[in-house]
Amino acid sequence: VPLSAKATHQQTRALNQGLVLRTLYHHGPASRAEVARLTGLTRTTVSDVVGEFVATGIAREIGRGPSTGGKAPILVEVVDDSRLTIGLDLGERAFTGALVNLRGVVRHLVEIPVEGRDGHDALASVHRLIDDLLAGSGRDIVLGIGVGTPGLVDTERGVIRWAVNLDWQDLPLGTILSDRTGLPTYIANDARAAAMGEYLFANPARDANLVAVKVGLGVGAGIVLDGRLFHGDDFGAGEIGHTVVVDDGVECRCGRFGCLETITSSRAILQEAEDAAAGHVDSALHAVLDGTGAITLADVASATNAGDEPARRVVVSAGRALGRAIAGLIGVLNVRRIVLLGSVSALGDAYLDAVRDEASRRSLGTLAKATEIVLGRPDEDVVLLGAVALLMTRELGLVPVR
Ligand SMILES: [Zn+2]
Repeated sequence: VPLSAKATHQQTRALNQGLVLRTLYHHGPASRAEVARLTGLTRTTVSDVVGEFVATGIAREIGRGPSTGGKAPILVEVVDDSRLTIGLDLGERAFTGALVNLRGVVRHLVEIPVEGRDGHDALASVHRLIDDLLAGSGRDIVLGIGVGTPGLVDTERGVIRWAVNLDWQDLPLGTILSDRTGLPTYIANDARAAAMGEYLFANPARDANLVAVKVGLGVGAGIVLDGRLFHGDDFGAGEIGHTVVVDDGVECRCGRFGCLETITSSRAILQEAEDAAAGHVDSALHAVLDGTGAITLADVASATNAGDEPARRVVVSAGRALGRAIAGLIGVLNVRRIVLLGSVSALGDAYLDAVRDEASRRSLGTLAKATEIVLGRPDEDVVLLGAVALLMTRELGLVPVR
């Protein structure tokens, strides 16, 4: 069907706006002439778009830059706090919501414990979080809502197909929230959202491809290819946590036995650490368990760093298990940048080394050499920042530009 002239005109306008905004966002402050050169748009088009941005407050003029011969040009920059987005992380232990500015800086954070809430109660909690955040902001500068949640999520339709921890099945959360607030709403699985956050806010080389592997209570990967989230045919791309990797392993919460999650999730690591503590009375872990009755990932990390051998073995074995899974991803995707996120990243260098070592040992040499596996930000907000990044890439066309 041919587009009407009006629709084409509006589309062109939106495309130009996206192009100018992301150029200012990634290269700014910049003069109008510089933006025209970088985008290939005409000076007139750039001036029109920049004029609108200045009028609506999303960009501002900040005085004159260095002269290149003639009159020094006026520089324009994006105003980072001119728009805010609502990001939600529907985590397994707590729901967290935040107002986030255009650079991914959290301006206001609200957290409520989950405490076994599911179904309608969980939805009521989501509404309350959003109402709180909207009450704390100038409503007209809120761009929209981004939500990250564990489970299978149809991001294109905004439907949570299955979130076992919340007892949600085929819940059209996107429509529910946008009908209630009038704001555009985007929803993604937590690991996939986190990948988008790394891509937009923590991607200094502006790589077009990236894999984020998130290891916390659950284990999942988010795959960004060519600047877009890769979902797979059933929105399960990156669901590596429930691949069986140990024959006759322990039972997983999905009902099968020996899933990757049963050996490399935070729960599995802490269980291993407790077993190690019980079996080695001279271990630093034993002292922790004796003193506090529970071991945290931070305890395991500090014992490992202090040279405690039982702790180190727990960390290395969890790292190796993840490394094997990552070798599979390297072979299938050949993505060079792999970022480790989630609470387990707190295990630090010993963990990272074990992941790298095993992934490299099990991958084609040339591919392994080109692959960079790094620890992402230890930030607890990676999921909500990622949900916000998804919203911003879709609503503002803010994709990294070289
Ligand atoms: Zn499983």
